[in-house]
Amino acid sequence: MSLQVRTFPQLGEAAQALAADRGARYLGGGTFVMRAINEGDVSITTIVRSTDPALQQIRSDGDRIHIGAGVTMSQVAASRDSDFLAAPAQSVGGPAVRNMATVGGNLFARSPYGDFTAALLALDATVHVVEGAGRRETPLEEFLRQGAQSEPRRVVAGVSVRRPHSRDAFRFRKLTRVKPAGASVIAIAAHLPNAGGRVQGARVAYVSMGPRPTRVQAVERALEGATLDESGIAGALAAATEGLDPPTDAIASYWYRREVAPAVLKRLLLGIQ
Ligand SMILES: Cc1cc2nc3c(=O)[nH]c(=O)nc-3n(C[C@H](O)[C@H](O)[C@H](O)COP(=O)(O)OP(=O)(O)OC[C@H]3O[C@@H](n4cnc5c(N)ncnc54)[C@H](O)[C@@H]3O)c2cc1C
Repeated sequence: MSLQVRTFPQLGEAAQALAADRGARYLGGGTFVMRAINEGDVSITTIVRSTDPALQQIRSDGDRIHIGAGVTMSQVAASRDSDFLAAPAQSVGGPAVRNMATVGGNLFARSPYGDFTAALLALDATVHVVEGAGRRETPLEEFLRQGAQSEPRRVVAGVSVRRPHSRDAFRFRKLTRVKPAGASVIAIAAHLPNAGGRVQGARVAYVSMGPRPTRVQAVERALEGATLDESGIAGALAAATEGLDPPTDAIASYWYRREVAPAVLKRLLLGIQ
């Protein structure tokens, strides 16, 4: 079966080509798409890609930064503008994967992947979507809900996110069985703004505790007004797996993921590496 590759200078044209062809798949870095094709996925008949320069940019606008969907994990980790996202970017695969894996592609990752997406979720990121001839901005949480229901038919231009006020306010921990960077047993990203030593407006997101990266609202609620010490975080640890149904896969079982979640969360909240 032949495979057509269509390259467009403008992202809008790529979006229209994607919408018009059910066999078309957008190509980011290709760590998933090319593997699917090489493994014989005949549902993909056309690859759509774009050379739009905006896809490759990281730029700051005040305390907001915009990251193009085609930016790779290696580029995020190397850029001063996105230094606060270096830990989740560096946790993705090995160097060869990070040189290809894009920010846009990570938004479509399923468990046990999606480390960078969890970081963006904890930071309340906005996704810039091109759909047919139009453009819109969607909160990442909403974008992930929509994505779970349908195959990707939209093109992501990029994401934007507010830089945390302090280095310590954003934290990321990942537990893997393969060092230094395998797929996660669990990964946790948290944004922990504080006022007068107490957490205010916490956002916590998990990887590998459901089909896709997810916010953990029970933990967020328990952290409201808490101090980040042993007694202050007790409620959050008690709520660590509330309502969660993690998968059993080759990396870890449902039981194991639920057992280790409070331990990884505790290390993150107490600032232990
Ligand atoms: C060996 C290995 C190790 C890995 N380790 C990790 C890991 O530790 N953590 C982790 O999170 N992931 C990991 N991954 C998964 C994957 O590499 C990343 O999630 C990566 O970010 C996917 O991006 P990509 O550009 O390669 O996606 P692609 O393969 O290009 O695309 C993946 C999906 O996203 C869609 N897509 C891509 N870009 C866009 C866009 N701009 N607009 C619309 N749709 C788009 C594609 O159509 C496709 O459906 C690993 C993969 C491999 C092969």
